[in-house]
Amino acid sequence: MTTLWRHTNQQMLVGICPYCQTETTKSIEIASSNIWDYTYSATCPTCGPIGGSHVGAAILEHPAVISFYWNHGIDIRAKHIWELGFVDDEAVTVLNENPSRLRIDVEIEDDRLEVTIDETAEVIDIVVIESSGPKGESVTNQSAGNDSSR
Ligand SMILES: [Zn+2]
Repeated sequence: MTTLWRHTNQQMLVGICPYCQTETTKSIEIASSNIWDYTYSATCPTCGPIGGSHVGAAILEHPAVISFYWNHGIDIRAKHIWELGFVDDEAVTVLNENPSRLRIDVEIEDDRLEVTIDETAEVIDIVVIESSGPKGESVTNQSAGNDSSR
């Protein structure tokens, strides 16, 4: 059961403290001393650190990620976090260190979604790479851009 975890993660992503409902700030950290090298965390100005997870969890609720899975016949909500390949350091590429820009590769079969997040773990760019297009060649489709999902 991942419902409770997911609820907490969602609140961290929404930017509201689950304890006092104050607005929180998110940040990403690159450190090999943690369980994962690439993590994000949320901090409440009143309660302090609320929690964090792998940076892959920061894009878990993004509509582009949800629909990417949905278009492949997978309901991401029915998956456990450890079944999602992008919640892993192997899927992360450091594009820039200061300010931090990380790319997270979400791969299903031969298709890939390249999700770029900034230093506050917000999605700033999404590129869809489909290898199984009707033309049989790689098609790069630039979409999204700034987070317009709110
Ligand atoms: Zn709080």
